Parts: sequence; structure tokens; C-alpha cells
Amino acid sequence: MAKNSQSIQAIRGMHDVLPEQSPLWHYVEQNIREVLSAYGYNEIRLPIVEKTALFKRAIGEVTDIVEKEMYTFEDRNGDSLTLRPEGTAGCLRACLEHGLLHNQVHRLWYLGPMFRHERPQKGRYRQFYQLGVETYGMAAADIDTEIITLATRLWKNLGIADKLQLQLNSLGTIEERARYREKLVEYFNHYQDQLDEDSQRRLTTNPLRILDTKNPKMKTVVENAPSLMDYLGDESRSHFQMLTDNLDTLGICYQINPRLVRGLDYYSKTVFEWVTDELGAQGTVCAGGRYDGLIEQLGGKNNYAIGFALGMERLLSLVELLDDVPIASSVDVYMIRVGEKAEKQGLVFAEKIRDQLPQLKLQVNCNAGSFKSQFKKADKSGAKFAIIIGEDEADNNNIAVKFLREIQPQQTLSYKAAIEFLDTQLK
Ligand code: ATP
Ligand code: MG
Repeated sequence: MAKNSQSIQAIRGMHDVLPEQSPLWHYVEQNIREVLSAYGYNEIRLPIVEKTALFKRAIGEVTDIVEKEMYTFEDRNGDSLTLRPEGTAGCLRACLEHGLLHNQVHRLWYLGPMFRHERPQKGRYRQFYQLGVETYGMAAADIDTEIITLATRLWKNLGIADKLQLQLNSLGTIEERARYREKLVEYFNHYQDQLDEDSQRRLTTNPLRILDTKNPKMKTVVENAPSLMDYLGDESRSHFQMLTDNLDTLGICYQINPRLVRGLDYYSKTVFEWVTDELGAQGTVCAGGRYDGLIEQLGGKNNYAIGFALGMERLLSLVELLDDVPIASSVDVYMIRVGEKAEKQGLVFAEKIRDQLPQLKLQVNCNAGSFKSQFKKADKSGAKFAIIIGEDEADNNNIAVKFLREIQPQQTLSYKAAIEFLDTQLK
């Protein structure tokens, strides 16, 4: 199609989900809701815009997100606001603001768009959707186990479990990490010449992130770096042990990856990621960890928190790789009406069907047309059946039912019989 130079297009990296794609989204979202409700999680709906200060404080000034990815603007009052780049900060802000964290436990989720000004490519967008799962008030490793188990169940239900590998690490406490950070800086200082520009900069701002480098030239220097696991105290160590024991008991496979540090500052103890090698460069589908320290950092009392964020577009890409995704057509039955009397009767009958079979998806042809053109539309709709009301049927209070996907004789039925027929056929 020729591009109209006058037409306005979507912002780069921001996508429309077209009607033909939404059944897949619904299918995946439905699975997500079922799994979350099976574990007793509640939805929380949060604003898409927050004060910029919230993200700076929660995510940390020296992270990729805050340094270069946020959509920040001044509103008409001169306040600095930011389109949320992730959900954890806003979720915690809401819970603190509404006093939900006083001696309470919570299991929460949200699903919605996030915004990051990154270089758009497959699996990396400027507006993308995340499912966030956050839990508060639980210190022991059984909640770490639970959210990992929950996500694992989702992969199984969607049929993609064999495409995802779970990687685990422990970042210890803030103090343990600080000790490790010193050792790490000392180590990398010896090998300054092997660090790329980004890593040289990180050496002073956020040295743990160097471990996360994707630069193949730095593979060896990173592999030989001291391991955080060796700097964990007893408490962090036994927490991690408890988690891996639980996962072993449940038969959930994992790989311990001592280089897994996550991009955000707020994590402590358990961190994890599910990665795939079936999506090219953007291989991390779901990632999370414990962030006990963040609540205090945002002005709350010392508390416990663990959660994860799941990239919906990457998840959908994995599901799309399957041969057989059980996606229902958006129309079961298409109604064809020809003639003035039939048009009126059809409207009334369509409502009767919807009264009695509320699950059935019935589309009524609008804007008249010949039998032939209406049949074409019926076929295109994906419906299994057409119900037809012509002059004869209207005069006799009947309708005709035609199979659109099978060779079967057309039947003429009373309204009552037609409703029974559709009910049994579409169960
Ligand atoms: P990456 O290393 O891919 O940049 P990240 O560490 O920045 O990921 P998180 O902030 O942990 O990602 O977000 C959790 C998940 O959200 C990611 O694992 C990914 O599936 C998804 N995600 C993050 N950024 C984007 C993006 N720009 N476009 C699409 N999905 C994204
Ligand atoms: Mg990122």
C-alpha cells in the first residue's frame, strides 16, 4: 500500500494489537488469570504515570532504566512525571499509601503497558506489556518457591515449559553485596584494559552490572571474576538452600547462574530469570527476585517483598511457536436475513438465542445484501453454522441451519428446536 505522506503513524516501538491478534492475547491472559487465582492472588490496578522521583528512588539513579530509558515530561503544573517503565515501584507506592503493609501479607498482580525508550527491535519495544506479580510480608523461602512454582505452572498450561530454563542466583543482603562489590572492583581494576567503555563506567557506578555484559570479548574476564555466592552470610545461604531444596522436592529444574545480577538496584537474596533460546537476542521472558530493602527505601517500615515481571510480547512469541494453540473463533454462528419480514424476525430471534445461550457467539449480518454475499461473509467470519431466515422461513416461523465447515444437509427447524440444536452442537 502506498504511504500517504499526510497520514500520522504510531510512535516507533509502540504497537497496535490488531483484532486478528487479540484472541491470542485473550487466550494467554485467560491462562494467566486462572493460574493466579488458583494460588489466591488478587489484581491491583495502578496508574500508568507516577512522579519521576518515585522511579529514581526505587529503581536507582545508575540503572539503564533511569539513566536512559524513561519517558519523563513536565505536566501543566510543572511537576516532573514519568510513564511507568516497570510496575514494582508503583505497586509498592500504592500499598504504602493505603496502609496495606502493616502486619499484613499480600499476593498481588497487575497487567498493563510499560514504557522504555530503548532501541526498538524484535522483542524489545517502547511500549510493551508486563504481567507483574508482587508479594509482601513474607520472609521465608516458601514464598520464593511459590511464585516460581506459579510461573512454572503457567508455562506448563501454555505448553511452553520445554522452551524455558529457570536460572537462579542469590544476591545476598545489601551488606554482603557491598563487601562483594569491593572485591569485584578490586578484581576488575586489575583488568581495566579488558573492559569495554560501558563497563569502565560501571566500575564506579554499578560494578555488579558488568557481570551482566553481553560483550563476548569480556567473557573470560567476567567468568574469572569472584563469585557473589562466596560472600553470602549464613542467613542468605540457608535461605537459598531452602529454596533449592523446595524446588528439588517439587521437581522443578533450575540452573544456578552466579552471573545473574538483574538490572535493578533493589534486589536482595533470591533472583531468577526464565530464559529461552528460541527468540533470538531477546531471550529473557520473565525475571524477578526478592526486594526486602525497597519498602524502607520508599519510606515504609522494614518489610519483605518478592515478585517477578513477565514480558507479554515475548511470552506470546513463544506461544506462537506452537503448532496447535487452542484459540476459539470469535464467531460460532452467523445469521443471514433476506427480506423485510425476515430482517425484523431475525433481530428478535437473535436476542432470544442470546437470552438462552449466553455463551454462544452469534453475529448477525448487518447492511442486508443478497444470500450470496451474506454467505460469503458468514464463511469469512469463521462461524461453524449459518442460520438463515428468508421469506419462506419468516412466513412459517422457522429458520434454516447450515453447516459451514462440514458437508451435512441443511435443516429447517422451529426456533425452539434451533436453539436446542445449537446448544448441543456447540457444547
Ligand atoms: P532486558 O535485559 O531484556 O532489557 P530487563 O532486565 O530490562 O530486560 P525487566 O525490567 O526485568 O527487564 O523486565 C522483565 C521482563 O519484561 C523482561 O524479561 C522482558 O520479558 C520484558 N521486557 C523488558 N523490557 C522490554 C522491552 N523494551 N520490550 C519488550 N519486553 C520487555
Ligand atoms: Mg532492559
